[in-house]
Amino acid sequence: MPDFLYKQKYNMIFSLLENHSNLFRNSIPLIASENVTSPAVREAMISDFANRYAEGWPGERVYAGCKYIDSVELECMELAKKLYDAEFADVRAISGVVANLVIYSAFTQPGDIMMCMPISAGGHISHGKKEHSGTAGLVHGLNIEPFPFDKDNMNIDVDKTVNKIKKTENNKMPKLAMFGGSLFLFPHPVKEMSDILKEYDIHINYDAAHVAGLIAGKQFQDPLKEGADTMTMSTHKTLFGPQGGLILSHNKYAENIKKATFPGMTSNHHIHHMAAKAITFIETLEFGQSYAKDVISNAKTLAETLNELGFYVLGEKNGFTKSHQIVIDVSKYLDGGKAEAELEKSNIIVNRQLIPGDIKAGRNYFNPGGIRLGVSEITRLGMQKSEMKQIAEFVKNIIIDKKEPAEMLNKIKSFRKDFQTIQYCFDNKTKAYEYVRIK
Ligand SMILES: *Cc1c(COP(=O)(O)O)cnc(C)c1O
Repeated sequence: MPDFLYKQKYNMIFSLLENHSNLFRNSIPLIASENVTSPAVREAMISDFANRYAEGWPGERVYAGCKYIDSVELECMELAKKLYDAEFADVRAISGVVANLVIYSAFTQPGDIMMCMPISAGGHISHGKKEHSGTAGLVHGLNIEPFPFDKDNMNIDVDKTVNKIKKTENNKMPKLAMFGGSLFLFPHPVKEMSDILKEYDIHINYDAAHVAGLIAGKQFQDPLKEGADTMTMSTHKTLFGPQGGLILSHNKYAENIKKATFPGMTSNHHIHHMAAKAITFIETLEFGQSYAKDVISNAKTLAETLNELGFYVLGEKNGFTKSHQIVIDVSKYLDGGKAEAELEKSNIIVNRQLIPGDIKAGRNYFNPGGIRLGVSEITRLGMQKSEMKQIAEFVKNIIIDKKEPAEMLNKIKSFRKDFQTIQYCFDNKTKAYEYVRIK
């Protein structure tokens, strides 16, 4: 290839990156698993930590040059423990999936059984069985037994689960119970079930990937206090940090987790993200409670308004949501995949969602019955009650009224203009989606 073409491609990649920032600057980002980071977190992520290795534990590294990295990592662990009131924190898992794999490896053997949320009711693919290429089955050879699910309450059915465990033969008893999921409207019954699970020697992990920021802000359940042995999470969903993972537990599990994390599941633990996690934990200690409160109240307003406008919002029996998420069954109008595409034409970014009953109705992941909306990112941009009502109106205009996408796009771009800085942080000189040039 002639050299000038390389330069063209080089320029092209950078212009795509800028286009992306521009898209998000003009969009209403409602992906429940996403958030936006503060300028401080972004600065940590482009530091030289990004180029280094620091294998092992602070003070026991297998490379030199780790003096400052060790100090940051020790601080990062202290902050994580403080934030979650936990005895032990391992901040090295590079993602939520890796954190779950650490738990699988530390507390189960291939062939063991894990009880968890079925994917069709909001379980995450990292809890999935081998036939679905789920991480638990495919990578660690776990067999999967679903929690019975109660559609009206949009939660685990405690009575049916307890009966199911009592009727299970000893050699088929789960070794691990995994709470948490990706469709996560209401706190899971950890407190209600931890005694019986412990009676049968079942290790309890709580996957807080989605709700980590709400737990940190003390507006959701506290899994470790309710009886969970260990807790895993992503650091970038409601917790507004860099993409990464985190594991918390009581001290008695520390050694197992440390070994499974390194050398088991990581070599390089992305230490620029580790530093950015430390910054996030400080931001969350300072601003986390007001952020989590605002997120949950925004989600509730959005859900109630959508319901008033005629949408079938799931979880009505319990007030639609107690988290950052809302799930709408749109199947009366179109399927979830088409709804996602229609909304995207006007820069409203959501994801289609399998909802309970879809599989029976012959729907699948590509054309499910629902869409999932999350308010974590728009709350971090400072949006409040009146904006939630406006957004619900936009969604109705697109899906129910079928208004012209071009007209909607203009409205949404102008609505979006006033929300360009990050809130709930110490410094916000750089705009939320500002493309930073350093080259
Ligand atoms: C998002 C998610 C994960 C995976 O986290 P990554 O950080 O993307 O690896 C794990 N569990 C649940 C329940 C999730 O929603």
